[in-house]
Amino acid sequence: MPQLLLRGIELGDVQAVLFDKDGTLSISEPQLLTLAQARVFLCLEQVEASIQPELKQLLERAYGLKPEAICPAGITAVASRDHNLIATATALVQVGLGWPEALSISEEVFAEADARDARRSQGPDAGTSATTKGLLDCLQHLRAAGVLCAVISNDDMAGIEHFLSSHGLAGYFSALWSAEHRPRKPDPAAVHGLCAQLGVAVGRCALIGDANSDLRMAVAAGIPHPLALGYTAAWSSPPPLLEPHPLIHAWSELKVR
Ligand SMILES: [Mg+2]
Repeated sequence: MPQLLLRGIELGDVQAVLFDKDGTLSISEPQLLTLAQARVFLCLEQVEASIQPELKQLLERAYGLKPEAICPAGITAVASRDHNLIATATALVQVGLGWPEALSISEEVFAEADARDARRSQGPDAGTSATTKGLLDCLQHLRAAGVLCAVISNDDMAGIEHFLSSHGLAGYFSALWSAEHRPRKPDPAAVHGLCAQLGVAVGRCALIGDANSDLRMAVAAGIPHPLALGYTAAWSSPPPLLEPHPLIHAWSELKVR
């Protein structure tokens, strides 16, 4: 069975590698920054001027939004769209709105921010997130060694497929687990569902992600600890990942033999 190595150190036997998408396969920070800024802007338009400064601060903190960066462990980076929507509604309640109104404003704001995002992605600067550096070589190397690859993400299927096909990567992935699958990340049963699709035992998989929730899920699902790997190279400030999980700083550090 192929042996996975990080910087020459043996981690264990693997038949499959499960990849998180945002912040692992893709450099998603620029898009997330634009999206979070749009959500803040659109929310502020919906409330009285007197509560705008407080709401702005609450939303920025909730979203992990910094002047030109997104906190890699915050909800914009890690959580699903509906969890972000609930966090937004919660901020609106904190500045005095009732819950039904807060929820309905959040739904409108998210729909409008998505529509702007869709228009942008069809415009002259069209495109999906870039891939992380050296990814294709890594995927080719894994395929040559007979290791299956899969995506486990809280993006929806359309988002995952669009990203993969835009970069000619769809053929490298044997299975996808999205926000539409049940249960979804970070439930360990999401890993079990994906492994069942691949036909590979959980203990023969590695999982690579840029969030502690990915690493905890992997271990809770039964992936051996050294095969739950953190990836740090997709963010302007590296994500605060749990030691002693092995950390990948560049795809070239990962090999199979
Ligand atoms: Mg991620």
